[in-house]
Amino acid sequence: MKIILFGPPGAGKGTQAKKIETKYNIPQLSTGEMFRAAIRNQSPLGVKVKTILDQGRLVPDETVVDLVAEALDRPEYSEGYILDGFPRTVPQAEAFDSLLEKKGASLDAFLMLKVSEAELVNRILSRGEGRSDDNPEKVKIRLDVYNKETAPVLAYYDKKGLVSYIDGFGTIDEIFSRIEKALGKS
Ligand code: ADP
Repeated sequence: MKIILFGPPGAGKGTQAKKIETKYNIPQLSTGEMFRAAIRNQSPLGVKVKTILDQGRLVPDETVVDLVAEALDRPEYSEGYILDGFPRTVPQAEAFDSLLEKKGASLDAFLMLKVSEAELVNRILSRGEGRSDDNPEKVKIRLDVYNKETAPVLAYYDKKGLVSYIDGFGTIDEIFSRIEKALGKS
């Protein structure tokens, strides 16, 4: 099964992706986590993207698309995956579509985690993961970037009739059971 887990920063994508991974035995691929790991390891990629992540802006599409394309070629993703944090712009979505097409594959589900903006800010500022972009000023930038550049991705998949809307308000387990229901239907 190939799933895109979508939603604004702080919607709980990472948490739910891990739960889907465990229950359905599908590996998750989080572009944000890949970038943070690259920064920790001070790899060339990490050096290139550090300032961008610190500022709450987006890594250039080409860099992200190359990284994802390379990762998805690994055998562990051959049976399926959960994408968390990708695609984040319409050009990324288009690139992902042509990648799927080349492989003769298709997407099974696009899950949109819906959470109000006030709740998002609350969650991010109280999660205490020590991320350099989890402060009020950077959260505002990330939400602005989401609204301008990432929200159009939802419309892109909506046109294809692929979107399942998930109420992202509630306990982790409540939200997960909504996801299970949506996946059951797809
Ligand atoms: P969140 O959803 O909480 O903002 P992520 O871990 O998904 O966190 O992403 C953290 C940062 O990594 C983003 O603010 C951005 O700088 C970078 N990033 C992650 N995925 C992408 C992507 N698909 N395109 C561009 N930049 C990305």
